[in-house]
Amino acid sequence: MEKKSQLYEGKAKKVFATDNPSLLIVSYKDDATAFNGLKKGTISGKGIINNRMSNMLMQKLEEYGVPTHFVEELSERETVVKKVTIVPLEVIVRNISAGSFSKRYGIEEGKVFEKPTVEFSYKNDDLGDPLINDCHAVAIEVATSEEIETIKNYALKVNDFLKTFWKECGIILVDFKLEFGKLSDGTIVLADEISPDTCRLWDSETGKKLDKDRFRRDLGGVEDAYAEVMKRLCEHM
Ligand code: ADP
Ligand code: UDP
Repeated sequence: MEKKSQLYEGKAKKVFATDNPSLLIVSYKDDATAFNGLKKGTISGKGIINNRMSNMLMQKLEEYGVPTHFVEELSERETVVKKVTIVPLEVIVRNISAGSFSKRYGIEEGKVFEKPTVEFSYKNDDLGDPLINDCHAVAIEVATSEEIETIKNYALKVNDFLKTFWKECGIILVDFKLEFGKLSDGTIVLADEISPDTCRLWDSETGKKLDKDRFRRDLGGVEDAYAEVMKRLCEHM
């Protein structure tokens, strides 16, 4: 596997071409951003943790019946993934109210939902990733109704798996964001990452936040929280 030119540098990862046109290499950085890039910082060692964690969870999800982009971990920060055309939707699943949900509906953080919710944001930095519903996503042709159904079903399946997995680690899965993509034959697979950058994770005993909210809200102990989550994950693999 030969690493070729850099195709893209995002806020948290770099993406490289390879000598195989259907494969990419992603490289995880320690850079952290919040509030649409307005807040910038570094979480030392984050890239190493997010790379490993994402890969471990995606391999588990494959076994659970969710196809993913994961191919092979190359090094601490680098992974080979299947190249997909990203469906430009942030797929957000929630088990407990927090963040933008709490703000939008005036519900305090911590309300446990009877059933998980699924919502979409249209991935578009210029527009600030606005909330979008199924009909609108079909209307602007970012996905077909069938693709949206598939994505929702996979997202809920990921939630079933992750909720149980994190519970065994003494962690409550509050909410998370997923991205899906299409392979050249149109197959939908889970892409991007699953990490404390993209999930809200609370300690089951103390309720302590063990995720990127420590960075967003200047709570301190960001690196320790990421390391704690990684430690518990490794103990339960
Ligand atoms: P952002 O673009 O939001 O700053 P990142 O820094 O995480 O995010 O950059 C990674 C980029 O790679 C994202 O735009 C993501 O949608 C995209 N991506 C993730 N997995 C794949 C994949 N398998 N194939 C193609 N693009 C991918
Ligand atoms: N999230 C993410 N990337 C985004 C927006 C949200 O990974 O661009 C994750 C976030 O970490 C949380 C979940 O999606 O786990 C729900 O986030 P929310 O809509 O509450 O937004 P926020 O509070 O981050 O504004």
